[in-house]
Amino acid sequence: MSIEDLRQMHWMANMIADIDVGMVVLDRNYEICNWNGFMEHHSNIETEDAIGANLFKLFPEISEDWFRQKIETVILLNNKAFTTWEQRPYIFKFKSYLPITGIHKFMFQNMTIIPLKSLSGEIEQVSLIIYDVSDVATNRLALLEVNQQLEATNRIDQLTQLYNRGHLEHRIDGEFSRFKRSGAAVCLVMLDIDFFKKVNDEYGHPGGDEVLRVVGKTISDLQRNTDVSGRYGGEEFAIILVDTNIENAVHFLERLRIKLENTVVKHNDTEIRVTVSLGISEANSEMKSYEEWLSQSDQALYKAKENGRNQYQVYDPNL
Ligand code: GH3
Ligand code: MG
Ligand code: MG
Repeated sequence: MSIEDLRQMHWMANMIADIDVGMVVLDRNYEICNWNGFMEHHSNIETEDAIGANLFKLFPEISEDWFRQKIETVILLNNKAFTTWEQRPYIFKFKSYLPITGIHKFMFQNMTIIPLKSLSGEIEQVSLIIYDVSDVATNRLALLEVNQQLEATNRIDQLTQLYNRGHLEHRIDGEFSRFKRSGAAVCLVMLDIDFFKKVNDEYGHPGGDEVLRVVGKTISDLQRNTDVSGRYGGEEFAIILVDTNIENAVHFLERLRIKLENTVVKHNDTEIRVTVSLGISEANSEMKSYEEWLSQSDQALYKAKENGRNQYQVYDPNL
């Protein structure tokens, strides 16, 4: 070996020791043959203690079966492999030094596994490169959380805290498709408060708002967990009764109607009473779209109004 070769090796060794990624070399028995400065620093295990140690004994957090399978594939195929923090947040459980008020106290890591050929051409070792990706991962996770929150608020009507029209239409569409596939009975109810303009006129808009909140809460208290309800428009609510045929649905409607009729809404020092009208339609195989289903419930509601309010009507094409 020439002086020049030695100088080159020395230079490489220094670089590997100081580089800002983890470098580990393992032999076929999973014993550590090389441990750089990054690994020393983050694990608090010095190179002289790491060399010769079994990887799984030193780091019980590494899932042995999974890890072995990865490494054996790399050796068998003589091909690099890559793992990301999205599959596994970390390989080595190192502390994170990110200056964030932390939910994530550990370092997120990606890893590359590289097969190393000996001079005879056999693969006798593998090299692991460990990248600290805490920065990217925490930002991505934070963004995901904000998006989820935004999506949730986008579905909610601020006044009643129930689903809004946009989300209801989406759900009605979804339940209609489900019906087309499964044929399981499902009913759609439209509910409209009677003479609501008078409520606003007599008690003011805040009084009307309070009535809307109470009606919304009464609906969600009475419905089953699997049912879907929300505020469809001004003083109109929609309810999808899942896995329910019309015979069972009308029992629910009557209970709801009576409950609301007997509900007293307290606003300031006054008591407000309202009644509601309801229209209902069961999905059937002749319907071409969820819009048709909605329209039938609407027509039934109109009928309930026409017939004197404070009642439900089932859609009937002959009416
Ligand atoms: P009907 O029995 O025929 O349904 O009579 P109605 O007075 O309820 O008639 P209509 O549906 O036309 O009136 C709805 C009223 O609801 C009109 C509107 O001022 C009021 N409204 C709509 N949205 C809100 C709201 O968010 N808050 C309040 N307080 N009032 C609202
Ligand atoms: Mg009304
Ligand atoms: Mg209305």
